[in-house]
Amino acid sequence: MPTRPPKHRPLGYKAPERVHGKGDSYYKSEHWLTLRAAARKRDGGICVQPGCGRKMRTVNHIVPRPPVPWPTNLDVLRNVECLCADHDNKAHPEKGGHNRRD
Ligand SMILES: [Zn+2]
Repeated sequence: MPTRPPKHRPLGYKAPERVHGKGDSYYKSEHWLTLRAAARKRDGGICVQPGCGRKMRTVNHIVPRPPVPWPTNLDVLRNVECLCADHDNKAHPEKGGHNRRD
């Protein structure tokens, strides 16, 4: 077996996590993945909007969370709900409101 070239890093070195200054990195955290899985399980993977019953696409915050990378008191099971693509768009008109007609 060939010996690996030496690395100029101490043992156990971890690259520092990049902070984007947005809350995006929260959505990669284990906290969110756990919360998301719990919401999906609770709602059965189905959109929670009355009369909808379509397959969920996203787990939505009922009260929007601040854009910070760490868990907040809004990142709890009672503040999240499973939504289908359609209802997710309606919950976030700022993301894709181009075909909105009020
Ligand atoms: Zn729906």
